[in-house]
Amino acid sequence: MKGRIVKGIAGFYYVNTGSESVYECKAKGIFRKDNIKPLVGDDVDIEIIDEEAGTGNITKILPRRNELIRPPVANVDQAVVLFAIVKPDPNYNVLDKFLIQMRRNGLPVIICFNKQDIASKEEQQELMDAYEKCGYEVIFISVHEGAGIDRLCEKLRGKTSVVAGPSGVGKSSLLNKLHPEAAMETGELSRKIARGRNTTRHSEMFYISSLSDEDQSTYIFDTPGFTSLALKDITAEELAQYYPEFEPYEPSCRFRGCSHIAEPDCGVKTALEAGEISRVRYDNYKIIYEELKNMKPVYR
Ligand code: ZN
Repeated sequence: MKGRIVKGIAGFYYVNTGSESVYECKAKGIFRKDNIKPLVGDDVDIEIIDEEAGTGNITKILPRRNELIRPPVANVDQAVVLFAIVKPDPNYNVLDKFLIQMRRNGLPVIICFNKQDIASKEEQQELMDAYEKCGYEVIFISVHEGAGIDRLCEKLRGKTSVVAGPSGVGKSSLLNKLHPEAAMETGELSRKIARGRNTTRHSEMFYISSLSDEDQSTYIFDTPGFTSLALKDITAEELAQYYPEFEPYEPSCRFRGCSHIAEPDCGVKTALEAGEISRVRYDNYKIIYEELKNMKPVYR
């Protein structure tokens, strides 16, 4: 039987085989045979040991389409990053670092701003101007009132999406809305774990039945926040290439490899003055540039 690993805890892998059926599996032979550690998101073959108890063995890990390291997850189609428009205001530094990381991973990003119901038109416009110009899909939602949720759901349908966002922006409320069964499952799992297993925080993938059918499965992967968002493997000199909105203006820079910081005759800075490039994005570029400059060299 085919399925997908939705969760891994203490040597057990929870495999969803479509609809809501989940088998608790071990993967003993896999390590030796294929020398590969199963990841959440892996498509796998399983053999069922006990149908009633819902237990099985993973017999094979199917080839991965891709694999992220932070968070560790396989076969992801896109990332959804969630911030609030206000209360709290978006942390641009964290948002832009996330965008850079996902660009490095080659993953398309949907930027989702919550709390539309308590934000002004101007506040929304500012975010739209900053991020839509960089080629990102920007969706405004109100989890509280339900606005924009349908549009977001259409983007999620049939795909596997990583959902990330800092605390206080309404991520749990959004996940509960998309997957009302989650709260219940977590409770059930806690009972199983209560029998002496370690309850460290884990990442989990949810099967969204309301957005799935026989032909397409929809999963969302809840990442436990932004704890490790330091850009460790990128240099200050490389940073500009992660700002797609700079690209059209770079041929106008006098110097090749212009950092767009202090050089004269810089096409990017000219575009900034003309309002073609978002001030918020550029100011944050400078901050991240300085951070990277001041970082100790990392041996790759
Ligand atoms: Zn320049």
